[in-house]
Amino acid sequence: MSLLRKNPLKLCSHPCRCGYYGHPTKPCQCSYQEIKKYRNKLSGPIIDRIDIHLEVPPVEFKDLMKKNVKNSLDSKTIQEKVIKARKIQEKRYGSPLKINARLKTKEIKKYCILEPRAEEFLERVADKFHFSARSLHKILKISRTIADLEESEIILKHHIAEAVQYRILEKPLWQN
Ligand SMILES: [Zn+2]
Repeated sequence: MSLLRKNPLKLCSHPCRCGYYGHPTKPCQCSYQEIKKYRNKLSGPIIDRIDIHLEVPPVEFKDLMKKNVKNSLDSKTIQEKVIKARKIQEKRYGSPLKINARLKTKEIKKYCILEPRAEEFLERVADKFHFSARSLHKILKISRTIADLEESEIILKHHIAEAVQYRILEKPLWQN
C-alpha cells in the first residue's frame, strides 16, 4: 500500500477481453457481462489509486507517419508550459518539492478553489459516476494542475471537465 502511494502507478489495460471495446472500426466480440467481469478485475481500490486513466485510441500506421499532426503542441512549447506550471506551484506552496499531486485533504480544500459553475459541474458528475472521496480528491488535484498550466488561479469548469476525462475507468460501461 505504501509503495503505491510513493510511486506513480502505471498500468496498461485493454478495454475488454477481446481488446476492441470502443474501437472505431472493429467490433467488440464481448458480451456486456464479459466486459463487466473483465473490468471488475481492475477492482475499485486499485482504480482509485491511479491518478490518471487515459484512453489511448488506436492509431493507423499511415496516421502515425503523417508529418504535421494537427492540434498537437510541439515538445518545446509543452516543456515551457510545464516549467511555468511548476513555478506557479513552487510559489504557491513555498517549496519546489511540493506539487499538486502531493496535496493533502486539508490543502486540497485550501488551494483547489472552484468557480461556482465548476463546483456545480463536479457535483453533478460525482453523483452520476459515484466517485469515491479519494477519486474526487484526485480530480481536484488534476484540475489544479490543468488550471496551473493555463495560469488560472481559480479552477474553472473546463478544467474539471478535462480532469474527469482522466478518470474514465470509473465511468459506467454504457457511457463509453
Ligand atoms: Zn471486447
